[in-house]
Amino acid sequence: MIEIDGSHGEGGGQIIRTALGLSCLFGKPFRMYHIRKGRKKPGLMPQHLTCVSAARLISGAAVKGDLPGSVELSFNPGEPRGGTYSFDIGTAGSTSLVLQTLIPALLFAGKRSSVTITGGTHVPFSPPFHFLSGVFVPFLERLGINVRLAVEAYGFYPKGEGRIRGDVFPAGSIGSLNLMRRGAVNNVAGHSGVRGLPLSIAVRQQRAAFARIASCAEELADRTAIEAVSVPGYGQGTFVCLTCKSEYSLAGFSSLGARGKPAEEVGAEAASEVITYYRSGAALDRHLADQIVLYLALSGNESCFTTEAVTDHLLTNLWAIGLFHPYRYVVEGKLGEKGIVRITPPKDVHPAPQHAAA
Ligand code: ATP
Repeated sequence: MIEIDGSHGEGGGQIIRTALGLSCLFGKPFRMYHIRKGRKKPGLMPQHLTCVSAARLISGAAVKGDLPGSVELSFNPGEPRGGTYSFDIGTAGSTSLVLQTLIPALLFAGKRSSVTITGGTHVPFSPPFHFLSGVFVPFLERLGINVRLAVEAYGFYPKGEGRIRGDVFPAGSIGSLNLMRRGAVNNVAGHSGVRGLPLSIAVRQQRAAFARIASCAEELADRTAIEAVSVPGYGQGTFVCLTCKSEYSLAGFSSLGARGKPAEEVGAEAASEVITYYRSGAALDRHLADQIVLYLALSGNESCFTTEAVTDHLLTNLWAIGLFHPYRYVVEGKLGEKGIVRITPPKDVHPAPQHAAA
């Protein structure tokens, strides 16, 4: 039984999500205490509880402590089974984070799985659906991992009720990344969207985003295209989601509307993120960096990449992965600043997870 201190590093929900995915993948049970101790409201919230119950269903796990607010959990998985699954978070909790938890569990489950998740699709502190589809999944594809995504309804805070579907295809061996340079930036593209609000708000966000990019990096203006859209779904919400495509890389940036937050601020916020990344010269944005390392750790080959910023989230996730898989990593650079991450697979341990051999 792996004993995990959930207050380590950032002390957030990522430790539990990473533990669930890798516990199912490797068939290693764990007990976690001090869950989300670093957060204002510690313990398991609806999104984390959905991750637990989904991982339990997929792997036939024996679970203790899966109650709202619980700060302790034990999880003893069986073998993951591919199939068709449907989960409802019941709040605006992030559907992306639930799907990201389950992908490692399903990768070697022997057959294609189809997972439908109801909750938030564009909610704070999580990857918006556009980031999953425009950046995360294309990077998985580079590693030889095939996930097909669809958004059936958009969901925002506080109502939620958005719905995404992820089809996870069985993986063979997982590739590696060598992305020290991103090369020239080809374009910045994306969407300024509204749901349940006038399209004029999306247009104001779009104009503000474009204006910020044009004023900070004039050379990007004629390579920037942002479309104003009205999306189907529930409740009210707005977003700006942009991707920056370069010769060798792809990065994603976003901002969300909120009551009392001017449309101009929403547009400028996402654009400012693009500019920070652009000026950093790094290959990966700060979010993809912490999300992709789990897969790089499973590869049979070494990986390295530059990231626009070393984050607490990245360091905490690297640590959490190491509890289940004896890989090695080195992070060069200071917290909050541009950095380099190097990942080395274990020497004597076959990179294919235990269940893959079945
Ligand atoms: P909690 O304890 O509430 O579950 P957490 O510590 O797991 O939170 P965060 O640190 O907020 O959560 O991050 C969750 C994940 O969402 C991380 O992988 C982070 O990179 C990702 N993320 C957050 N914001 C964005 C964004 N704007 N675009 C893409 N990914 C994002």
